[in-house]
Amino acid sequence: MDIVIIEERCIGCGNCVEICPAVFYLDEEIGKSRIIDKEACEYLGCCEAAAENCPVEAIVIKV
Ligand code: SF4
Repeated sequence: MDIVIIEERCIGCGNCVEICPAVFYLDEEIGKSRIIDKEACEYLGCCEAAAENCPVEAIVIKV
């Protein structure tokens, strides 16, 4: 599994960070989310929910 954030789309709403704080981190300076731990996607299983709740479909999961 791989996960990426399409940075140009991210509006910094924070949904992904709220749902999956071990994986995503909101970079306040640029107002965009970053991935801090891809591996956590595998064992926490919250990345799909984060992607579904991203209002601009900026989170792409490749299986
Ligand atoms: S949910 Fe989407 S738009 Fe919101 S911070 Fe995360 S990646 Fe960015």
